[in-house]
Amino acid sequence: MTKFTDLGLNQSVLRAIKEGGYETMTPIQKQAIPAVLDNKDLIAIAQTGTGKTAAFSLPLIQKLLTGEGKRTAKGARSLILAPTRELAIQISENVRAYGKYLHLKSTLIYGGAGAKPQIKAMAAGVDILIATPGRLLDLMNQRHVNLGNVEFLVLDEADRMLDMGFIRDIQKIIAQLPKARQTLLFSATMPTSVEKLANSILQNPLRIEVAPAATTAEKVDQHVLMVPKGRKRELLAHVLKDESLSRVLIFTRTKHGANRVSRQLEQLGISSAAIHGNKSQNARQKALNDFRAGDTRALVATDVAARGIDVDGVTHVINFEIPNEPESYVHRIGRTARAGATGASLSFCDHEERAYLKDIEKSIRQPVPVLEDHPFHAEGIAPAPAGEESKPANNGRGRRGGGNRRSSGSGNRQNNGDGRSGAPKSRNAGSGAAKPQRSGSGKTRSRNRRPQRTAA
Ligand code: AMP
Repeated sequence: MTKFTDLGLNQSVLRAIKEGGYETMTPIQKQAIPAVLDNKDLIAIAQTGTGKTAAFSLPLIQKLLTGEGKRTAKGARSLILAPTRELAIQISENVRAYGKYLHLKSTLIYGGAGAKPQIKAMAAGVDILIATPGRLLDLMNQRHVNLGNVEFLVLDEADRMLDMGFIRDIQKIIAQLPKARQTLLFSATMPTSVEKLANSILQNPLRIEVAPAATTAEKVDQHVLMVPKGRKRELLAHVLKDESLSRVLIFTRTKHGANRVSRQLEQLGISSAAIHGNKSQNARQKALNDFRAGDTRALVATDVAARGIDVDGVTHVINFEIPNEPESYVHRIGRTARAGATGASLSFCDHEERAYLKDIEKSIRQPVPVLEDHPFHAEGIAPAPAGEESKPANNGRGRRGGGNRRSSGSGNRQNNGDGRSGAPKSRNAGSGAAKPQRSGSGKTRSRNRRPQRTAA
């Protein structure tokens, strides 16, 4: 079964799907939709870009249409929990699109916006409630929302909800749901914390896994650019001279950093906006809309803010800073190469970030090729100037000597100290490290992967 028309879905839903341009199901949809229609609880390991939203929304809509439940005041027949406002809005847009010819009522509850309209929207009850946990729990505690009649519960991006500290809220919310319900849990990764939660709320679930981390990673043409920390801004300006980077999502670790990078881009005459938790909901939505419409070329985001960003046609993801969790890296680069498109990622890596990079490579089970063809490469692999090593003790990560020196030196345009001489002995190649592989292009190479964190 590969076509939506084989599923026995309501004709109005099929019509909406067709108008949305979907014909064949994605792998997650093929597995999840029949199972959900068959009343199964589900634990699905799937990332954004796999079509997971439709995988749960379509059968949910179908079941709400054929089920006997009724809307009740302040109640919801189904609840979809999501980690961020952006993702909640995104899900809501999908649900509305699929249900555009139906009379199902759906609404959104999330923080950072006035509660009054949300309370009002819940007064007569809804079929589908999409919510972030914090605000939902507030409104439940204030008795504006009553979830005693929920028939279906979906947790989307469960791993991220737990990362964001929502476990308590989620447990409190679920405690107020009927035990007899169908539950679907979607997560990009399955750490023990999510596994534990799943065990406590799912009954006899079907487990499906369609896109292990490596799958997304393999679709994206990834590169790492070695660069001293202090030269990252110049490197960004340099790479953005290339017009083919036309819709670029740039990640920074902090909100401050996002603002800084966005300001810098504006100074360079590159239209951009920053999106992070300190921005108002309206500002975030506007930034997203402008980016979607192509009015801004670059969107600078923090990890949390970027969750749920569904923008097709992102040509490049730039990691201005390397994330310290490999999962974030996979999420970040998964923002490009969505729904079958191609995409590329450029990760700016300074000395201190090499250990993060190594963890990432381990997690995605592949080396990230080094792009040498930029003006700062030589400096990036050379011993860092004293000023760059001022970070507090970090298990040797920031110490002198770029351990990744595999390059032949062909790209060394500004070789100010070629890194070899200053290299501590222990960093040296070989011993037990993964074998370097050439990556095809003459300009990129994979590096020798030194076990940096453990280096004495
Ligand atoms: P998601 O993983 O839910 O964030 O979906 C990723 C993108 O794929 C969204 O832009 C969806 O609209 C799109 N999409 C989902 N299912 C299909 C499908 N069966 N065919 C084509 N596009 C799809």
